Parts: sequence; C-alpha cells; structure tokens
Amino acid sequence: MIKINENYLKLQASYLFSDIAKRVAAHQQANPDLKLIKLGIGDVTRALPDACIQAFHAAVDEMANDASFRGYGPEQGYDFLRQAIAREDFQARGAPIEADEIFVSDGAKCDSGNFQEIFSTDARVAITDPVYPVYVDTNVMAGRSGGAHNGRYQGLVYLDGTKENGFMPELPREPVDLIYLCYPNNPTGATATREQLRQWVDYARENKAIILYDAAYEAFIQDDSLPHSIFEIEGATEVAVEFRSFSKTAGFTGTRCAYTVVPKACMAYTDAGDAISINTLWNRRHTTKFNSVSYPVQRAAEAVYSAAGKAQVKDLIAYYLSNASFIRERMESLGYDCIGGENSPYIWIDGKSDSWEFFDLLLNKAGVVCTPGAGFGKCGEGYIRISAFNSFENVQAAMKRIADALA
Ligand code: PLP
Repeated sequence: MIKINENYLKLQASYLFSDIAKRVAAHQQANPDLKLIKLGIGDVTRALPDACIQAFHAAVDEMANDASFRGYGPEQGYDFLRQAIAREDFQARGAPIEADEIFVSDGAKCDSGNFQEIFSTDARVAITDPVYPVYVDTNVMAGRSGGAHNGRYQGLVYLDGTKENGFMPELPREPVDLIYLCYPNNPTGATATREQLRQWVDYARENKAIILYDAAYEAFIQDDSLPHSIFEIEGATEVAVEFRSFSKTAGFTGTRCAYTVVPKACMAYTDAGDAISINTLWNRRHTTKFNSVSYPVQRAAEAVYSAAGKAQVKDLIAYYLSNASFIRERMESLGYDCIGGENSPYIWIDGKSDSWEFFDLLLNKAGVVCTPGAGFGKCGEGYIRISAFNSFENVQAAMKRIADALA
C-alpha cells in the first residue's frame, strides 16, 4: 500500500489568496460596473525592459538556426550570465563572490523552498513572523515543524516582528540551525542595516548555523547606507546563502529567471562533526533535479547588466517606488502608521483594526484590493499590505477612493 508523506496533512490550508479571490469575486458580482483596483498580489504590471526584449529576440533567432541552436545548457547556468552576476551584483559592491558560486534557476520561490532539502530533518528552523509563507510550508512538508497549535507550528522557532522592533526581530533566545531572513522584507517592506546583518552573521558563526537570505527585492534599495547583499558583511560567506530574482528587478515574473548564491566557504556538518561544503551538496542537488533555464531567458537576464539594461531597470524601479511613496504619503496623511515603501514596493499599514475587517472596508467602500497582514503570520494581524505594482493612474485613483471611503 502506497502511503503519503503525512507531513502534508500538517499544512495549514492557506486561505489567504483563495479567500481574497472569493471576496473579490462576490463583490464584483454584486457590483458588475465597478472597476476594482488591485493593489494586493505582488506581481509586476510593466513590460520587460527593451534591452531584455532585444536580447531575448536575438537569442530566439539563434535557436532558429542549426549553426547557433542550443540544446540543454549547463544546469548551473551559462557562464556568460554567472560571470555577469558575480561581477555586477557582488564584486562591484565589494562582496567576494565568484561565478562558480552562482546557481541560475527559474525562481527564488523554488530555490528558497527547495534549499532546506540538503539539511538534516532535525535541523531547528527559525523564521520571522510575518513571513513569506514558502519558508514555513516547505519545512512542514519536510517534517521539521511538528503540529500546529493556535496558528503556529510547535517545532519552529518564531521570531516576532512588531512595530516596537521595526519588524526587525531580535536574535533567537534558543539555539537554532537554519534561519530565514528576507530584506527588503515581504510583506513589511522593512530593510536591514549593515549592523543588524552583522549581528545575524555573528550569531550564525557562533552557533554553526546557516542563514538563508532572501534578497528578491534588493533592486528597490535606494538608501546608499543599506547593504544589498548579506555578502557585503565580513564572514557571511561562511554562514549564508542568498536568493535573488529577476522577477521584481526586471519584470521577469512570467519570464522566470533567478539565482542562488552558495559560497564555497559555507559549511554544514555531518553527525560526526565533519564540515561539508554546501556548494558541493547544492551543486549535486541542482544538477540532479534541475535542467537549466532556457537560453533565450538567460540572454534576456544578461541584458539587465548592459548599460541600456541598467538604465531601464533603474527607471522601472523608480516608477514603482514613486507609486510606493505616493501610497505611503496618502495613508500617513489619513492618520495610518506605515512602514516600507521607501526601499521596497510594499507598504505595511497599521489598520488599527482586524486585518480582514480593514480589507473588507477597502474592498466594499473603495473597490480597492489589498492583502490582509494576518495571512503572513500571527504578527501580521491588524495590518494590511498595499503593493506598488500597478500603473500610477490606478494608484492615484485607488488612493482617492480610499481617502473618500475613510473620510
Ligand atoms: N521571495 C520573496 C520574498 C517573494 O516575495 C517572492 C515573490 O513574490 C519570491 C521570492 C519569488 O520570486 P520568483 O518569482 O523568483 O520565484
């Protein structure tokens, strides 16, 4: 008799996006003429940068010709892209990362979800709350969570993000082995300073732990004092892995290209205490289970680093950030405390009421869709997330409607 992985039964059904969809559909049905404005889901709305499109087209043309056609590529990514990433995203910022430490993939969602596979099932896992749910659910599937009680898994260590700590949780009070961090943060938009990251790196070095650092929103960082990569912190290559994505940087959410940085110096240990390079383990896992991102997509991603590509990406980010700043300014002028929106496309708003009540109010009275903070964890209760991914015209209209509804 074939048996299931019973850990899947421990997963708490994520009602978040299906509940939102249901409430939105019901509202739309009752108000068929209303044009809803969606500032909920974190998907981009603007076209790929022209430099990427041109490189994409040229690479597709290469595929149309026997002489330049390419079949399977290297699982870790083409050298042209790995070199460009190492040089532009890391070495240019003083982070000592080499091309053979870059693993190109089709998404930071899969990578941040899959990476835990190479660690023991009894690893003690710390996650921040509120949190991008992928880190939690993949550890539940792997059997590291125990059962859920009052909305929290008993085997996970939760690091609370609150208004008081600026949604930058304190170090764990008990020893942990694997720590998930995400800055700029989804959903709160909080960012980490160099000093804050240094404390995490020091903790990981002292405890022989590993930090899985999700920097999917790195491109939104405007403040020059903030680190873009955890590898800008001395010693981080011994204890950290970093996830990056072209999704939000350059509008690749539907095109799919991302990468994970696994430094050769980063070690995990056998039962006997022998150090093993996780670069070797991840290389083994990646080459076994993944068969590379398509050649045209990697050429399109490479174009992000051309002079034209850099300028176009800068404009794209500036567009969303000006939406973000508009949203934040309007919500603050209505008397709501906000964080995020300065170095991040998300504005995290204290709704001064139950998350879902505030969601319903904005939906029913303003025709605007946001995301209730409670869907990201216990500490998200009372908050909503508004995303800057939409046209400025829609954002302006949404904020006018919200102001009228809350007046
Ligand atoms: N990491 C975080 C924190 C995200 O918010 C998202 C997407 O919303 C991802 C990763 C997924 O990125 P990708 O599109 O590369 O899978």
